[in-house]
Amino acid sequence: MTFENRRIVGIEDIKALSVECNNCKVRLTYSPDEAVKIPPNCPNQSCNVEWHTLDMYAGNETKRPVLLKLMASIMEIRHRLLNSDAEKPQQQVGFRLLLEFDETN
Ligand SMILES: [Zn+2]
Repeated sequence: MTFENRRIVGIEDIKALSVECNNCKVRLTYSPDEAVKIPPNCPNQSCNVEWHTLDMYAGNETKRPVLLKLMASIMEIRHRLLNSDAEKPQQQVGFRLLLEFDETN
């Protein structure tokens, strides 16, 4: 008999959001409950590669990069899950989003 161990977590279980530069691999880590402001360029001065050209919270919503939309959505979902006065996301759609990962040892 074979067993596979998997870890299943909800959006509310996220402890941090990190972004990693494609070029130099420097990372910035944010609280998932803060309004994340991703700098337009890599903060590593010896790299400084462009990360994005749009303001995360302004401009044309349809042109905003999907990764920035995802980060903003995670913050909004967590706010609703953790705020007792807010309508919970699973009350809006009738399900809870769970993320599944392989268990690592
Ligand atoms: Zn970089």
